[in-house]
Amino acid sequence: MSQIAKLFKSRFSTIKAIALSSLLMIILLVANLAIAPAWSESVHWGYDGAESPENWGKLSDKFRLCELGTAQSPINIKNLSIGSPANIQFDYRPSPLEIVNNGHSIQVNYAEGSSITLEGKKYALLQFHFHSPSEHQINDQNAPMELHLVHRLISEGDEPNSSNQLAVIGVMLEQGKANPLVAELWKNIPAIGATKKVNIRKINAMKLLPASKSYFSYDGSLTTPPCSEGVKWQVFTQTLTISPEQIATFTRLYPNDARPVQRLNERMVELHL
Ligand SMILES: [Zn+2]
Repeated sequence: MSQIAKLFKSRFSTIKAIALSSLLMIILLVANLAIAPAWSESVHWGYDGAESPENWGKLSDKFRLCELGTAQSPINIKNLSIGSPANIQFDYRPSPLEIVNNGHSIQVNYAEGSSITLEGKKYALLQFHFHSPSEHQINDQNAPMELHLVHRLISEGDEPNSSNQLAVIGVMLEQGKANPLVAELWKNIPAIGATKKVNIRKINAMKLLPASKSYFSYDGSLTTPPCSEGVKWQVFTQTLTISPEQIATFTRLYPNDARPVQRLNERMVELHL
């Protein structure tokens, strides 16, 4: 073989090797991308069959508290002790409407800048969502639905705090007069898995609070997996009404998205009047 031919052959095999390894890398990359969503996909859970609440703790190691936790939510609210006078300051501002049909509930994500102050701590309103029937019971009784307003601690006194502590406000929804804000929300429910943003439409969560701000409080958990504990619960003593049609609109989508009540164990429930 001539020198030129040898050089050409070795160059050619180098090019071939580079081409082959690039191809291999592309194949690996594509395979990786195809697999990645499966790796990052969260574990399925629900309210029926194998994915129902009594099995949540077995569905994933991350959900073990659902089975082993001792301060879980919801609870049957009874046997109260009298706590400090009711004192939650609400600073809810109008927010553009962002509504999510997440496959477990209808959730409204709230814009930054709205908060409550509870025992000297300020919690930002993140989102609110609905359950049917109610998750909490009051004296063994469920309401047709329950609203949860979810807040995260942002400051304590003048000090910022990002400890991720959650405070949830529960509002029992009884059948009665229609709620105008719920009417607005239900008109904008997107398909399952979808989010709808209506920037020109401002909503205010103040319209979802009863007139009386008395409440029951106890230390509990998320009522959905991973059932994390350390959640401060406040459930209003006064209910809010929504119409039978408004209840039906929700239950057609989610006939049952309520976790059953959990053992109280050593916890206390306080009434704040
Ligand atoms: Zn909830």
